[in-house]
Amino acid sequence: MSEQLAQLVRKNVRELIPYQSARRLGGNGDVWLNANEYPTAIPFSLTQQTLNRYPECQPVEVITRYAQYAGLTPEQVLVSRGADEAIELLIRAYCEPGQDTVLYCPPTYGMYSVSAETYGVATRTQRLTTQWQLDLPAIEQQLDSVKIVYLCSPNNPTGNLLNAEDIRRILTLTRGKALVVVDEAYIEFCPEASVVSWMNEFPHLVVLRTLSKAFALAGLRCGFTLAQPEVIQTLLKVIAPYPLSTPVADIASQALSEQGLRLMRERVAELNTIRDTFIPRFNALACVEHAFPSQTNYFLIRCYDSPTVFKNLWEQGIILRDQNKNPLLGGCLRISIGTEKEMECLYQALAQFGPKGERQ
Ligand SMILES: *Cc1c(COP(=O)(O)O)cnc(C)c1O
Repeated sequence: MSEQLAQLVRKNVRELIPYQSARRLGGNGDVWLNANEYPTAIPFSLTQQTLNRYPECQPVEVITRYAQYAGLTPEQVLVSRGADEAIELLIRAYCEPGQDTVLYCPPTYGMYSVSAETYGVATRTQRLTTQWQLDLPAIEQQLDSVKIVYLCSPNNPTGNLLNAEDIRRILTLTRGKALVVVDEAYIEFCPEASVVSWMNEFPHLVVLRTLSKAFALAGLRCGFTLAQPEVIQTLLKVIAPYPLSTPVADIASQALSEQGLRLMRERVAELNTIRDTFIPRFNALACVEHAFPSQTNYFLIRCYDSPTVFKNLWEQGIILRDQNKNPLLGGCLRISIGTEKEMECLYQALAQFGPKGERQ
């Protein structure tokens, strides 16, 4: 019976390995540092009492506030159910299954491949260099049939920015042939590095943003696509009629008010400070080979014996994200910046391990 049902599933979906979200991986703990979330909840109250009505497809106040925040016009902004939906909308609108290709550079965010595979669109990967930068000569050789290039900067999970000049080079190489989508999910932690101001120079540049990270609203599911009006219009052809519920638009609008932005910037400054005090301390620990610098609200540590360290922490209720199986990231664990107290708790736990991950 279930075998018959299995035969009904599209072949590419049968073969699909779903995104391993932090939530799906589970765990049982008090200290959750595995999903790059903001560590505490921000209070909001609902102001809209019109749930009998369908919401606006693109709530005007949310769009105008985000446009102003990003320094763009409202016609250059699309709001969606998280940046994840935007990743998918771009593929749906621009990629012909069986013909076009999506290119991305691992180790990076997992949803570019999952979305492409779901729609039967071929993927091509070009690993980052050992410095976690774009391998330009190799990418240049493989742009044939590529319709979308996904670049993540700052990159998840490595935490570093891609060199601006390299992004520019990719934009130059793909002009008239492909979209270049720069995923800026973490740009609030290093706002000066945004490429959004290049949009007029490169009409095929698309920038992705989200309220899930610096805005502390991962549970809201609200993200943004910034692009030429023509691209936005195309995405609006394939987006659901009501992608955002009324309460989501209500809260997003508040988060993007002047006060919302001010609070966001305070949170960013606080997390950046915690990060910059803890990275050197982690670097001095016996079980840590290296703690890497980061421009984001997470950073990597390379451990001499990461599986043991990961498991020991897991059993103590401290949940990190294991990157050991990712290309270039052998021995690496990703740590989302938590509260000072949570980071201290993690530090104390790590301090108990010797180089082999054994209790010292
Ligand atoms: C978290 C994240 C997203 C997803 O953002 P949502 O708005 O929560 O869907 C997209 N890209 C990267 C790189 C991320 O880390």
